[in-house]
Amino acid sequence: MPLLAGDLVKQQLCILGATGSIGQSTLDIVRRHSDKFNVSSLSAHSSVDALFEQCVEFLPKTVVLGKEGLAKLLKDKLAKAGLANIAVKSGAQALIEIASSDDCQTVMASIVGASGLMPTLAAVKAGKKVLLANKEALVTSGQIFIDAVKDSGAQLLPIDSEHNAIFQCLPEIEQRRPGDCNINESGISKILLTGSGGPFRDLPLDKLAAVTPEQACNHPNWDMGKKISVDSATMMNKGLEFIEAKWLFNLQVSDIQVILHPQSTIHSMVQYKDGSVLAQMGNPDMRTPIAHALAYPERIDAGVEPLDFFATASFEFKAPDFDRYPNLRLAIEACENGQSACTALNAANEIAVDAFLNEKIKFTQIAEINETSMNKFVSLKVETIDDVLRIDEQARCFANQVLAQLSGPTEKDI
Ligand code: NDP
Ligand code: MG
Repeated sequence: MPLLAGDLVKQQLCILGATGSIGQSTLDIVRRHSDKFNVSSLSAHSSVDALFEQCVEFLPKTVVLGKEGLAKLLKDKLAKAGLANIAVKSGAQALIEIASSDDCQTVMASIVGASGLMPTLAAVKAGKKVLLANKEALVTSGQIFIDAVKDSGAQLLPIDSEHNAIFQCLPEIEQRRPGDCNINESGISKILLTGSGGPFRDLPLDKLAAVTPEQACNHPNWDMGKKISVDSATMMNKGLEFIEAKWLFNLQVSDIQVILHPQSTIHSMVQYKDGSVLAQMGNPDMRTPIAHALAYPERIDAGVEPLDFFATASFEFKAPDFDRYPNLRLAIEACENGQSACTALNAANEIAVDAFLNEKIKFTQIAEINETSMNKFVSLKVETIDDVLRIDEQARCFANQVLAQLSGPTEKDI
C-alpha cells in the first residue's frame, strides 16, 4: 500500500498471530484509533479466510501464512478482491522479515508457543517497540532474549495482563529498564502474581482426570486461545508467567508470590517495603493491557467497560494448592533449576496440551509428561539461541515418546 501523508505520524504495526485472540483484540484497538495506528503487516498460521477479512479491512503492506499453498490461496482471493498489491509470503523466514522490517516501529508478538520465538527475537534485535504476549518466547530463551533487548535498545512492554499490571504498579524508573529492574533500589519487597485458578479450582481432585478439553477451555473470566486456556486450567500458565516475571522484572524466585484470586479483578500487585501494596484492577479484557502498551505512556480508550465496584463480588484470595496444580510447582522448580529446565518444560507442555486437546491423554497426564521431560533436560548448558532450539526440539521428541507410552498405540499404528 502507498503511504498516505497521515500514515507517517501513525505508529506502524506488525501483528504476529493477528488471527488469534490477542491479535483480534489488538486490531480492535487499531480500529478504534485509526488516527494513531496503521497496520503494516499481519501473520496467521492457517486461517486464510480470517486473514483475508483482516486484509480487506486494514490494508496491510505484507501478510504471512504458515505454508506456501495457503499463501497461494490467499493471493488468489486478494487478487479477485482487487487487492493484488498486498504482498503474501509464507514460512518462518517471512515472519522474521516482517518483524524486523523498516515498515513497522511496533511489533505485537502474539503467536502462540515457541514458534513465536524467532520472529519476536528478530523484532527485539531490530530495536522495535515489542509488545510481548507470547510468553513462551521469553520462557524458552530467558537471558538470551533479555540480553538482546539490552543490546538493541528495543522497548519491551508486557501484554500478559499480570505483567502489564505489575509494570503499571512499578515506579517509572523500573518501567524504563525492562529485564534490568532493581526492585530493592525501588523499595519493593514482593511481586504478587495473581491467578484465577481456572475452571477446575473447586472440582474435587478425583474428578480432574475425567475433565474434557471443552470444559478446560471454558475459562470462567477470560476469553482466550485454546492452548492458554488449558494452561490456565492446569495453572501451567501461572508457572510460565512466574518465569516470565523473573525475566521481565529481574527477580529471584523468592521475590514472587502466587496468589489465587478467583474474580480476576486484580490483575497483579506490587508490595513495597513501607507496607503499601499497589494493585492494577479492571474488568478481565485483554484490550486494557494492549491499549496501555500500544499508547504507552499515553492512555487511550480501549472500549472496556469501567469496573463497577457496586456490582463487583467480594474479593477472595488463597494460596495455590500444588496437589491440584502440579504444573505450577514444576514451573517454579524449572525457574530455580535454570534455562534448560524452562525450555524443556515449555516444549513438553506444548506437546502435552496438544495431546490433551486431541483427546489422546487425560488432563492429569499433562503434568506427568511435563515432569518426566523436564527432569530429563534439567541441567544442560544454554548459552546461545542454537542451544535453546536444540533443547526445545529434543524435549519435544522426548515428550512425544512419553506421550506414546501413556496413550498407547493409535489406530494408525495398529
Ligand atoms: P490463539 O491460539 O488465539 O492465536 C494464536 C495465533 O498464532 C493465531 O494467529 C495463529 O494463527 C498463530 N499461530 C498458531 N500457531 C502458529 C505457528 N506454529 N506459527 C506461526 N503462527 C502460529 O492464541 P492467543 O491469542 O490466545 O495467545 C497468543 C499468545 O499470547 C500466547 O503466547 C498466549 O500465552 C499469550 N497470551 C494470551 C492471552 C489471551 O487472553 N488470549 C493473555 C495473555 C497472554 P491461525 O489462526 O492461523 O492458527
Ligand atoms: Mg496472564
